[in-house]
Amino acid sequence: MPTSAVSTRPHVVVVGGGIAGLAAALGVLDGLPTAEVTVLEGSDRLGGKLRLEPVAGHLVDVGAESLLAVRPEAVALAGRVAGDDVVAPSTTSAAVWSRGALRPLPGATLMGVPTDPDSARGLLTDDEVERLRDEQEWPGGALQEDVAVGEYVATRLGQAVVDRLVEPLLGGVYAGHASRLSLRATLPTLWDKATRGASLLAAPTSGPVTTEGGAPRPAFAGLVGGVGRLPGLVADVLRSRGAALRTLAVVRRLEQVTDGWRLVLGSAASPEVVHADAVLLCVPPTPAGRLLAPHAPTAARVLGEIETASTAVVTLAVERAGLGTLPGSGFLVPPVEGRTIKASTFSGNKWAWTGDLSPDVVHLRASIGRAGEEAVLQRADDELVEASVVEIGEALGRRLPRVVDAHVQRWGGGLPQYAVGHVDAVAAVRSDVARLPGLEVAGAAYDGVGVPAVIASATRAAAATVHHLSTITTHRGDRPA
Ligand SMILES: Cc1cc2nc3c(=O)[nH]c(=O)nc-3n(C[C@H](O)[C@H](O)[C@H](O)COP(=O)(O)OP(=O)(O)OC[C@H]3O[C@@H](n4cnc5c(N)ncnc54)[C@H](O)[C@@H]3O)c2cc1C
Repeated sequence: MPTSAVSTRPHVVVVGGGIAGLAAALGVLDGLPTAEVTVLEGSDRLGGKLRLEPVAGHLVDVGAESLLAVRPEAVALAGRVAGDDVVAPSTTSAAVWSRGALRPLPGATLMGVPTDPDSARGLLTDDEVERLRDEQEWPGGALQEDVAVGEYVATRLGQAVVDRLVEPLLGGVYAGHASRLSLRATLPTLWDKATRGASLLAAPTSGPVTTEGGAPRPAFAGLVGGVGRLPGLVADVLRSRGAALRTLAVVRRLEQVTDGWRLVLGSAASPEVVHADAVLLCVPPTPAGRLLAPHAPTAARVLGEIETASTAVVTLAVERAGLGTLPGSGFLVPPVEGRTIKASTFSGNKWAWTGDLSPDVVHLRASIGRAGEEAVLQRADDELVEASVVEIGEALGRRLPRVVDAHVQRWGGGLPQYAVGHVDAVAAVRSDVARLPGLEVAGAAYDGVGVPAVIASATRAAAATVHHLSTITTHRGDRPA
């Protein structure tokens, strides 16, 4: 039986060592265990937006810290590599800092749209609750085309539910604005209702979901030691299966050759060339667009047009003595409140492992920055820390005790913005890229920014790569030697 290099050990190169790239590499090895897999990560560490840093001597998450458990991909991957270390939050009760007080976030909402209007009373005034109950039709009935979340929800349920609920929740996930973000791409369940002309209020809940056995399980999960452990654990599995994981390996150019792809790494003065039978591009939209430009101009243009939001995560370790009891897992801040921080997580309350880190300090964090509001991030680190300390204290109604340590993690361009028309834009990218044999794209730019959606896009890209390699293997294997 004649064989070729491809049929024996195809070389698959994954560009980007964030969770998308690592999950894609694992997906390739699961589908084609004989593949030679190389992950090329441009920075000095794997993990991308999943990252741990020491604060008061204890490693804590300074990027993503929570995994949506309503969909299976992230908890499945975490369970595979971390087993029993996948844990539920100790508390899921959260608040909105609105009109001068912390007010409970309704338990059952779909990205802020409550199932029961009365559950929003207090956060919304009585008049605003009545407006919410008095759901209006969208002019023209069932929605035909994508629209901004804010415009659609405000028209049907009133501006207040957008300002005080939807906006802060979208701000938490996308660091974006309801007036810009796509209903179809960011809230597919509401989009589905909208296209059927159905009521938005009878939405499924964002509260606990029910397992097959009937027991409720929380909608979110974490990892003992932090979600930031996930990339390292996946990397360990990849290494044990023979994959090569390289850091400080920035891919500068992609060249298509007859038998696959050449990747150019390193400086212009001393470039390194790597050959690949297949490439998975698991990088943010801007570098993806740049690398695709010579080969898929439509995809490159569309990716280049995706805006990103810059944010910062401020982590505080404050003295436990004098802190008192913190209410729930934290709070969101609606932009209409005009504050610097957009959310705070009481990490020590939310995750038991964080609460147990030290008898002396408690870890809290604040998030800062929304799309188009880069000015706030031009402040120095100590100013961001100061603003976080003051505003968390104001929200709690008391001064925070002494801050023992603080860490500021800046995420420049960290979150792609899914503008109106995003789903069509992604379809255009995919159809352009589909013309390029052996090239796939995955990551936060496409089907959702949350870790589960990112892993899903990676798994899908890995499956397509395995399929491509099996096709060319068959094809080359059929050739006479
Ligand atoms: C502050 C913050 C908090 C978040 N919180 C949560 C959360 O709690 N839960 C949740 O589900 N999601 C959360 N997210 C979103 C989620 O973490 C990200 O969308 C996801 O991790 C993105 O993964 P990725 O692999 O697509 O991209 P990235 O993590 O950005 O990884 C891409 C990698 O590609 C590398 N790269 C770029 N260009 C090149 C190149 N030319 N050559 C080689 N390598 C290159 C980069 O260095 C990077 O490491 C959060 C995001 C942020 C910013």
